Amino acid sequence: MAFACQKNSYLKELTTKVVSCTPAELKQVVNGKKQTLQGYEIITEDTVLFPEGGGQPDDRGTMNGIDVHRVTRRGGDAVLFVETAIEPGTEILQKVDWTRRFDHMQQHSAQHLITAIAEERYGWPTTSWDLGKEKSFIEMDTPKIGVEEMQELEKEVNTAIRKQLAMTPRLVDLGSSVLNSVRTRGLPDDHVGQVRIVEIETIEANTCCGTHVANLSHLQSIKLLGAEKGKKSKTNLYFLAGNRVLDYLGKCLTNEKLLTGFLKCGPDGHPQAAEKIQKSLKVANKSTTMLLRDLAALEAYRYNNQADKDPVLVLHRKEGDLEFLNMIANEINLQNCLALLTAGDEKGAGMFLAAGPDDIIKEVGPKIAECLEGKGASKTGRYQGKANKMSKRSTAEEVLRSYTQKLTAG
Ligand SMILES: [Zn+2]
Repeated sequence: MAFACQKNSYLKELTTKVVSCTPAELKQVVNGKKQTLQGYEIITEDTVLFPEGGGQPDDRGTMNGIDVHRVTRRGGDAVLFVETAIEPGTEILQKVDWTRRFDHMQQHSAQHLITAIAEERYGWPTTSWDLGKEKSFIEMDTPKIGVEEMQELEKEVNTAIRKQLAMTPRLVDLGSSVLNSVRTRGLPDDHVGQVRIVEIETIEANTCCGTHVANLSHLQSIKLLGAEKGKKSKTNLYFLAGNRVLDYLGKCLTNEKLLTGFLKCGPDGHPQAAEKIQKSLKVANKSTTMLLRDLAALEAYRYNNQADKDPVLVLHRKEGDLEFLNMIANEINLQNCLALLTAGDEKGAGMFLAAGPDDIIKEVGPKIAECLEGKGASKTGRYQGKANKMSKRSTAEEVLRSYTQKLTAG
């Protein structure tokens, strides 16, 4: 048996009847959050909404205007999940989300074509594939795919597209000798009835339940994006097909325009310009580190050499970091003083370091962190961490000052 969507994958609507409607729930992830939908599982006489299978995700669409959130196959039935009950016997109009479906048809058909040519030409059998939201990959049983081989394969699949070869599904009986000569990765355990074969004219035949384009010309083009090491000694070959090629090119052009603006040179000069910037940034970072080191030594020198010095050193530097704060702490004599050193945005978040005799710092450190609404950790004579409210520095200073007595007593 075959569903309406499998008989004619270009059918966008179907009028059919509800056979059963059972309360159910659907667990799904929306924007990274898990949620459970309360609703109904509906079985219809036939379906134009494709249930997942053959590596192809299920369709979205509507039934009498009600959103279909999930379509699965159970034996010979398609099960459609909706949030509103529909009485058995009701005549319904199913509509397919065609943008999503046609995209799946293009990616899935491209996979068949790439698989067939990769195996025939290079002897790389396909072991699985994944139709991703942005790009898809085919897992091939070969340890490596070279750049030249990939370019050659890309050329060949696109030549096949230009030949406008027909891609046609047909049904054969289980046990038919035809099945001996087709590519197959096995049938599902709950398979019922005849077996569906999808054939690309003059290239290959494959057992598959998915929806496919009727002619390779509907793939427009295939772009191989690259090969990555896969599981065991396999290789994942990434690809885009059809509208995705144009969408991707559009995205690349937008980025290219932005880069042309930032780098003040044309696209051909982008790589060298980016490399040059990275190199000069490295030099600049190095000299900043050196300057901060010198500055830390100077700040410490100034404090150490004060006549009648304040036992509490409070210092803030917007451009500093924890390394800078530690450099100052390294240079001052902490036996008889307490330091509260901070860096970052005066009104926002930043870093803090409290330093002094170990017993005092262990006690006061967490209080300072609390004042600054931050978090920290201690190591001998120091307590450092992130501060979320740098504006509370004066309160933190007061807390630290309340410990100076201990300092002189000690
Ligand atoms: Zn397939």
